[in-house]
Amino acid sequence: MIALENVSKAFGARAVLAPTTLAPAQGRTIVLLGPSGCGKSTLLRLMVGLVSPDSGRVLFDGQEVTPANVEQMRHRIGYVIQEGGLFPHLDSAGNVTLLAGYLGRDRAWMEARVSELCALVRIPRELLQRYPRELSGGERQRVALMRALMLDPEVLLLDEPLAALDAITRRQLQGELKEVFARLAKTVVLVTHDLHEAAWFGDEIALMRSGSIVQRGSLSDLLARPADPFVTEFVRAQRADPRLAAA
Ligand code: ADP
Ligand code: MG
Repeated sequence: MIALENVSKAFGARAVLAPTTLAPAQGRTIVLLGPSGCGKSTLLRLMVGLVSPDSGRVLFDGQEVTPANVEQMRHRIGYVIQEGGLFPHLDSAGNVTLLAGYLGRDRAWMEARVSELCALVRIPRELLQRYPRELSGGERQRVALMRALMLDPEVLLLDEPLAALDAITRRQLQGELKEVFARLAKTVVLVTHDLHEAAWFGDEIALMRSGSIVQRGSLSDLLARPADPFVTEFVRAQRADPRLAAA
């Protein structure tokens, strides 16, 4: 569906992504995992055409993404940016239906779709009258997910969707989100810096470091056959906090 072919990116003199090839399997969830600053968000932004590659090609549905077709492609991708990215001056319903309205979709269709999505992400319909600032962090993420799903995209890109939530809300949303993915059977690319979250969601994990994918596979692959000492180090650092174990 969406594929990067030898895509690289630098900002100024700084290489942020080394030539990278990645084609997420249709209907599966791939997780981009890695420390802060390793290029996860940039990789996602390249996929959705918000950043253009210095070299290589981005393909969508077999076609190269170009300035002429990027807009069209974007309507087929659901994208949730790192902070959720809801517009503060629109209420939640306004946020969810903004693009559909702009594209001239039928009112009745929009109504029905919003109801369907409320049920899917477990949000009461009335809550959509609220502005983003009037929502809890968890509710905001649910609304951001609704907005991304509104046009029934073929691909869903989620940038650290749960990172800003408290532990309990996060755990709950991890459970629900995984059910949503399974139900919709969409191609999902999810970014996280959390190993446990990566293992929970990922049919496959791509572990990144300084602009490169160091290893791809399941958590057990990373544990049993680390491609690089960094893999072991990253896993070990996240598996148990020795300061807590000693307490
Ligand atoms: P991650 O999401 O893994 O934390 P990012 O993809 O956001 O990492 O960033 C990777 C690197 O690229 C960081 O060093 C960041 O400062 C830099 N970077 C990202 N976007 C820009 C930009 N628009 N201009 C300059 N540097 C950028
Ligand atoms: Mg990021």
